[in-house]
Amino acid sequence: MQLIETIAPLRAALYDYRRKGETIGVVPTMGYLHDGHLALVERAKAECDRVVVTVFVNPTQFGPSEDFAAYPRDRERDLAMLERLAVDVVFAPTVEEMYPRPGQTTVSVKPLGDILIGTVRPGHFSGVATVVSKLFHIVQPDRAYFGEKDYQQLAVIRRMVADLDMPLTIVGVPTVREPDGLAMSSRNVRLTPEARAAAKVLSRALGEGERLIGAGEADPQVVLETMRGMITAEPLAELRSLDLADAETLEAVERVEARPVVLLVTAAFGGVLLIDERVAHPIAELNETEPGGER
Ligand code: AMP
Repeated sequence: MQLIETIAPLRAALYDYRRKGETIGVVPTMGYLHDGHLALVERAKAECDRVVVTVFVNPTQFGPSEDFAAYPRDRERDLAMLERLAVDVVFAPTVEEMYPRPGQTTVSVKPLGDILIGTVRPGHFSGVATVVSKLFHIVQPDRAYFGEKDYQQLAVIRRMVADLDMPLTIVGVPTVREPDGLAMSSRNVRLTPEARAAAKVLSRALGEGERLIGAGEADPQVVLETMRGMITAEPLAELRSLDLADAETLEAVERVEARPVVLLVTAAFGGVLLIDERVAHPIAELNETEPGGER
């Protein structure tokens, strides 16, 4: 496994692979790796000849009052985990390498990046789209792997790639969870034991929302109010956003009828911001896929 910290030698290493006709997969991360990241790496290894994992805590996607400085980092631990998976290249640039001068060019995916979580994290998705676009230009991968946990991020990247005709395939990977349902996240280590126990309310609330929709509830407000009640009943939860949207377009939904929807939640526990998602399938859609199902 090669650890590369600057762009020029990375391009040279990748040029060699490409010249031999090998396909390249990239897994962009902010490090402090866990099994969620490793699921992306394993998928990339299964589908590509060569796998590049990028480890970069990108300052431009954090708001001024967010946790850029406090974001957990552990280079040695990350490298040991990636070594065990026999990744080909780890690209871990400094902030100066990625942003040697104040950027004048940004990528904004609008309105997709301004709605939902974009309303509580202004500028976040533009920071993500810009850095991911830079990484795509640096690595020139055939395939890139992203988690469904960051559902809106995945939608923003897919849209950027489609709108700008970027020549690669985006692969979404299902969310990996702790045994009690909490979505794995690098930020989970910053939770106090009490906040960690409280945080499982997110997956419980998402499960209840999914159950209601599966049972035929078509009014988004009923679903969201039930979920909001569960989350706000947890004293340590500070709910930041809770939305129900079309699972494909992320547009608002007036009635949950034939198309799958996604439930999206962000909440802070003791100041640690967590995010989770669940795709829910309405009863009508389920029946459509079952021969002889009731209409
Ligand atoms: P991050 O390091 O948090 O920026 O995440 C890097 C990539 O890993 C993103 O595409 C995330 O969506 C994905 N990811 C993070 N946590 C999980 C998880 N629990 N399950 C699946 N993918 C994840």
